[in-house]
Amino acid sequence: MKKFILRHFIAGSLLALLLLIQACAVNPVTGKKELSWMSEAWELQTGERYYGFQQQAGGGYYTIDPDLTLYVRSVGKKLIPFSARAHLPYDFVVLNDSTPNAWALPGGKIAINRGLLIELDNEAELAAVLAHEIVHADARHSAQSQEVGTIIAGGQVLATVLLANSDYNHTALQQGVALTSLYGQTRYSRSRELESDQYGMQYMREAGYDPRAAISLQETFVRLSNSNKAGVFSTLFASHPPSQARVDANRASAAQLPAGGLLNRQRYQQEIAQLIDRQPAYEKADKAGKAIANKSYRPALGYAQQAIAIEPNESRFFELKGIALNRLNRAQDALQAYSRSIALDPNYFSPLLRRGLLKHELKSFSGAERDLKDSLKLAPTQVAYATLGEIAERKGFGCSQAMGYYQQAYRAGGSQNQEIQRKLAALKVSCPAN
Ligand SMILES: [Zn+2]
Repeated sequence: MKKFILRHFIAGSLLALLLLIQACAVNPVTGKKELSWMSEAWELQTGERYYGFQQQAGGGYYTIDPDLTLYVRSVGKKLIPFSARAHLPYDFVVLNDSTPNAWALPGGKIAINRGLLIELDNEAELAAVLAHEIVHADARHSAQSQEVGTIIAGGQVLATVLLANSDYNHTALQQGVALTSLYGQTRYSRSRELESDQYGMQYMREAGYDPRAAISLQETFVRLSNSNKAGVFSTLFASHPPSQARVDANRASAAQLPAGGLLNRQRYQQEIAQLIDRQPAYEKADKAGKAIANKSYRPALGYAQQAIAIEPNESRFFELKGIALNRLNRAQDALQAYSRSIALDPNYFSPLLRRGLLKHELKSFSGAERDLKDSLKLAPTQVAYATLGEIAERKGFGCSQAMGYYQQAYRAGGSQNQEIQRKLAALKVSCPAN
């Protein structure tokens, strides 16, 4: 018996040791040994799997100015050869969101909001933002986050990692459309932030940029965090908190690096010229979003129309117009506005979802079904699955289809969980055992 226990004890210890070895890995950027919960294969898979959803959740691709993404990508590509894991499948994208924020998924999928681009002065500052995010991916910062690791290891469905970044999405959140966040708002520790700044500045310098842009960038952030715009910046400040200590640390890092390098101010200002021109329209749209959140639908409609008058090709403005019209009980006009929004950008889930839900309210079930299914291809939401379940029940496919939709709705998670559980329980009673 003792032998048996001993043998099992040894086997158990070996297993524990094996797990420990796997968890202890060398940080590819710093060369230091530290805990890492996930393999590179996991990083690549996670990045690939959630990149699309996170873009949707972060306001969607900036469709109206695809050249801006090409430009950001070209700056990012200059930095990649100097990263510790240059083989990662890096990508860079501009998202249609006024919140000044940037994020990186494991595996090197990086996004920057137009709301941050508008605050930058030159290309070197953009390089500083991108290099900082590259280090987060490069040094496995989010793969090391135990929080993220255990959630994924625990098998929880991350299909609902849609986040609520902007006022506009907060509106969606209140309507039960948008969901919770994970990556876009990952909080990095102070030491991770400093590490990303420090190594990011090295990458920048090696790519030919003036690393002092990382100092001016931090100074801008500190200034903004002390200004009346601080609230607007809260997402950025939560995930990458600015501080005088970071400014000082960056000054010390710059002193260690060879002097000189490019700022490319003129080029940057040229590249964001269209964004600057559209800024008054986005400010009106942000006001519309806030008015909707405050249930002031008539002013919201006014602001949305002013935004459209300045820029008639921005899909998001028509969606805001549609929300306001719908709330003012002008359902047919709202449908038209949503349709215009979808025509201008068919690859954003939100207007499809809203048009689908409105069609469902208007008892136009087959149209609703089409829109909801299309929205699910872009981003999984509880409300879309649950509504498809209701439509299936109405058609008499309760046992075969509705149950499946309700199960997916439940897995997606959200405010309707209890109601969905009740519906599932009722179907289980009425459906045949198999
Ligand atoms: Zn950061």
